[in-house]
Amino acid sequence: MPSETASVANTDDASNDVYFRCFNGCEGRYSVFEVMYRCPKCDSLLEVHHQREPLKRKSAAQWKEILNSRASTTKWPYGSGVWGMKEWVIPSMDSENVVSMNEGNTNLFWADRLGQQLGVPDLWIKLCGNSHTGSFKDLGMTVLVSVVKQMMTMKDNPVKAVACASTGDTSAALAAYAAYAGIPAVIFLPAGKVSTAQLIQPVSNGAHVLALDTDFDGCMKIVQEVTQDSSIYLANSMNSLRIEGQKTVGIEIVRQFNWEVPDWIIIPVGNLGNISALHKGFQLMMDLGVIDKMPRLVAAQAAQADPFYRSFKNNFKEKVAVTAGETLANAIRIGDPVSYDKAVAAVKATHGIVEQATETELAQAAAQADLTGMYCCPHTGVAMAVLKKLVADGTIKKSDRTVVISTAHGLKFTDFKVNYHESKLAMDCTMANPPKYLPADANAVKDEIAKRLES
Ligand SMILES: *Cc1c(COP(=O)(O)O)cnc(C)c1O
Ligand SMILES: [Zn+2]
Repeated sequence: MPSETASVANTDDASNDVYFRCFNGCEGRYSVFEVMYRCPKCDSLLEVHHQREPLKRKSAAQWKEILNSRASTTKWPYGSGVWGMKEWVIPSMDSENVVSMNEGNTNLFWADRLGQQLGVPDLWIKLCGNSHTGSFKDLGMTVLVSVVKQMMTMKDNPVKAVACASTGDTSAALAAYAAYAGIPAVIFLPAGKVSTAQLIQPVSNGAHVLALDTDFDGCMKIVQEVTQDSSIYLANSMNSLRIEGQKTVGIEIVRQFNWEVPDWIIIPVGNLGNISALHKGFQLMMDLGVIDKMPRLVAAQAAQADPFYRSFKNNFKEKVAVTAGETLANAIRIGDPVSYDKAVAAVKATHGIVEQATETELAQAAAQADLTGMYCCPHTGVAMAVLKKLVADGTIKKSDRTVVISTAHGLKFTDFKVNYHESKLAMDCTMANPPKYLPADANAVKDEIAKRLES
């Protein structure tokens, strides 16, 4: 039987407190600075594990104070929402190797009017799209690229570049962080299946962008083959380093509520990394006594790409994979999600729910939210539509505090907005609000305004 610590690479003392281990429970600890993505014994995903004892040397009150105090600091690297929790993320990271553009600390705002309309007045939106590349993917990439940068300073380092398959936002984040660090990035995109903004982001950041004639799941297969060779480091969420950065969003939400836990968190899901991350952050806070209850997590899927919903409907008896159909929510167009096991654990442990939304439902929900001041990406539209369903069927109660995680900025999805408001989507775009074209004539303008404000 291998000794428990045999394979810990000797980076520094803290690596004994934080290490990769098999998510499926096999024995073995591996350094987070080693190039590996799966358990060498059973091939299941790894997870970064933080020994609880060293962290418990500080009380819950002390941790809260530390995290509160860093939320507004300029002291490197703690001003980042991710690295403000460095001890909970990668404690053995050298601060000079941190690759950060002050991601995180995104706004959590009260959706007053929308909440009133839907009958849940305590409704909040966590705007993860207000971030460097416009999606929550920045949270994970700062961790992954930082670790790669540190690996590159180590003796016998094999890594020369980073690579990912992407539905659009992962590649934008990887390309930006890699460019910031000066590390080459190789991007695999399904040709014609990402938005213009998503395509041009990695192009602008100087990544090697390869558009393949397949879907995301096809790109994922290719990138896994290409990264067999450890000179190219895999940056998909199968790589559990990303989960470490993304888990900070749940911690941040609780901090923003002055350490109170909301009743529900609704999150749009595709590859299932982000919901796994959310759960992992909450579990850590539970174990450290920072919180004493879990929120109920709701995974929101597009009906066109709903393998997780189908698995939920069969009580998670078996994993379902589908060929993902075309959906406006292109970042969650995934038929065979990688982080399935972790997400099942997340839903089970939080008494969670998986629900889905059709194309019409997601577009209408996004348009409705926009009319109350938001600017929802289609994935956030999926979450909004699921919220509406759960309120309508009485699952979410009027007094419940609910947070919707908005995963990307609507500005990345201009085509979606334009097509809706030009009524070009294959549905009744009942809230379409196209501009009115008029001659430059004051009387015509006055008539039009009068007509509109009257009704
Ligand atoms: C990546 C992404 C998701 C899905 O996250 P997973 O971790 O793949 O479940 C949802 N929304 C947006 C905008 C994304 O970019
Ligand atoms: Zn294993």
